[in-house]
Amino acid sequence: MAEVLVLVEHTDGAVKKVTGELLTLAARLGEPAAVLVGPGFDAARSTLAAHGATKVYVAEDPELSSYLVAPAAEVLEKLVGDRSPAAVLLASSADGKEIAARLAIRTGSGVLTDATDVSASGDAVSAEQQVFGGSTIVRSAVTRGTPIITVRPNSVAAVRSDGSAERVDVPVELSDGARGARITDTVVEERGARPELSEAAIVVSGGRGVGSGENFSVIEALADSLGAAVGASRAATDAGWYPHQHQVGQTGKTVSPQLYLAAGISGAIQHRAGMQTSKTIVAINKDAEAPIFELVDFGVVGDLHQVVPALTEKVRARKA
Ligand SMILES: Cc1cc2nc3c(=O)[nH]c(=O)nc-3n(C[C@H](O)[C@H](O)[C@H](O)COP(=O)(O)OP(=O)(O)OC[C@H]3O[C@@H](n4cnc5c(N)ncnc54)[C@H](O)[C@@H]3O)c2cc1C
Repeated sequence: MAEVLVLVEHTDGAVKKVTGELLTLAARLGEPAAVLVGPGFDAARSTLAAHGATKVYVAEDPELSSYLVAPAAEVLEKLVGDRSPAAVLLASSADGKEIAARLAIRTGSGVLTDATDVSASGDAVSAEQQVFGGSTIVRSAVTRGTPIITVRPNSVAAVRSDGSAERVDVPVELSDGARGARITDTVVEERGARPELSEAAIVVSGGRGVGSGENFSVIEALADSLGAAVGASRAATDAGWYPHQHQVGQTGKTVSPQLYLAAGISGAIQHRAGMQTSKTIVAINKDAEAPIFELVDFGVVGDLHQVVPALTEKVRARKA
């Protein structure tokens, strides 16, 4: 059975949830093998093993972590050449998509981005993507080289399965090109106990209807009661009410949580582009004609300043 390479998303060996999802998908296509770039093997190993990784290709030279995404693309390029995997899976994060694109060019392969599922039929690997506001599902296959596929976080549930996570060191000679953009400083985002937006199982987002930056405290309170991440529409981030890194949409982050709750958001096409693959969508809007109601599973017509605090109280009471 051919290997399927999964690029591990991690910080010093703390493995992100999406990697377990990718290993779960990789097991459907072949033998899941993780690729860890940078230090952290000892910390990452048990998580990778618990999600079925048979091998972990480790490129831990500290120099690899000193530059932006190019080193990861070169590590994967070497492994694609040496191991001829059935496919390479990466997370549909900003970094993951850039690495996928670089790898595709370097290996002369096709790339598919923002997949929500993958499957194999014989030797062919295909990916499922949702397009046109989630109204159309397309299934595509790479016809050249090694299929390189980025998968949206939360597209599948990570399944636990025993893997040996055997360490295989990968020596890599970085090209001069990979040293073109060096990381000069790293600032850890302060986000308290809230989960990371694009990985969260629940996202509570606020829009222009929230009315001000201070009023975002009602959105945060509901998010905290649910253990959710906080998102925002571009109207809210452009107004300076919430930081831009929380923007959901075409020019913000793409999320695909189990539950997306939109409060005071009209549902513009650019916002939908970032959240339409959420499994269950709930909207609170005082305008019954707001376009967001076209795609919701549950809708509440009402003033969010009354509905959201009442909902928060209900959630807290139920948890207590
Ligand atoms: C190239 C481009 C890229 C873009 N990228 C993005 C993007 O990534 N993400 C994004 O979000 N937008 C993006 N936009 C902007 C997008 O077109 C919309 O302008 C934006 O999404 C609107 O945000 P909103 O829904 O919060 O505001 P509005 O459209 O103004 O809607 C506010 C809603 O709040 C409701 N409301 C008001 N008060 C209350 C209340 N008290 N209680 C309940 N409901 C209330 C109103 O009825 C209304 O439906 C982009 C636009 C362009 C042109």
